[in-house]
Amino acid sequence: MDISFFYNHQIEYSSFYKETFRNLAASKLKELNFNGFKYVLQLNPGRIKSSTANINKPLDQSRCFLCRPNMPEYQLGMDYNKDFTLFVNPYPILKKHLTIVSKLHTPQTIQNNITTMLELAKDLENMVVFYNSPKSGASAPFHCHFQAGEESDLPVFTEIDSMKKLYTVNQNDFVTKINDGTRRFLVIENDDIQEATKKAEEILNKVNKIYNTTEPETNIGIVFKQKIYRIIVFPREKHRPDEYFRTDESRILVSPGFADMAGIIPCSYPPNFESITKKDIQSIMNQVSISEENFDKI
Ligand SMILES: [Zn+2]
Repeated sequence: MDISFFYNHQIEYSSFYKETFRNLAASKLKELNFNGFKYVLQLNPGRIKSSTANINKPLDQSRCFLCRPNMPEYQLGMDYNKDFTLFVNPYPILKKHLTIVSKLHTPQTIQNNITTMLELAKDLENMVVFYNSPKSGASAPFHCHFQAGEESDLPVFTEIDSMKKLYTVNQNDFVTKINDGTRRFLVIENDDIQEATKKAEEILNKVNKIYNTTEPETNIGIVFKQKIYRIIVFPREKHRPDEYFRTDESRILVSPGFADMAGIIPCSYPPNFESITKKDIQSIMNQVSISEENFDKI
């Protein structure tokens, strides 16, 4: 599926989008390097929060920003199928950033949506289609959506082969379990969409069992390359790290979603961009990732 005309048209002909991508391009970046992988801090001058107020209040259909009638006129949509529409993300953190939005105002869920994500990944070749669970970084848990960005912009996907060599704790069938000392996650690789769906659902069911939930808290990213589906699943222990709730200047305003878990950490609070250390990253990622004890159960 070629989305380039739609994508370029949106960015060329809307002053809002032009500015939003200009701001993104002006972001300051800082790499924190670990053995075999990295995290990139991003400070986008257009995304600095004026306060630390929580904006994740549930919005009803009349005010929901993912409901089509509430979108600004300049925001264009491209029909994907009967259930989903593609948009250019109006608040991008990746150079090419899509949101794929349900046509219905229905809550964020992964149930029955893995196959849709795999199909999307195949149609958007070389882009990673990703998902944030309601309490794992979803910006609109009240309206079902996915996102997509280029694989080359998401460190964990570009590093995966070397990480498998360095940090595999277990490899079974076509699933690899990885613990890199900051994050714990699973990689599923298969060329068959049904097999891949089945395995992903099996893992998500285990996550539900471990945490006694009905909606597994995870971040999931999928890419389709050289005829293989690669699914990375980050089961989540926690929504936000302790650092988020500090009340003094040591507060770190990071509420990890898929991008953070994949190695891109947007800093909406400028002092954090200067102050976050490798030790902070280690602490934050270890808290929000599935614990070692629970990881053993998958
Ligand atoms: Zn909505």
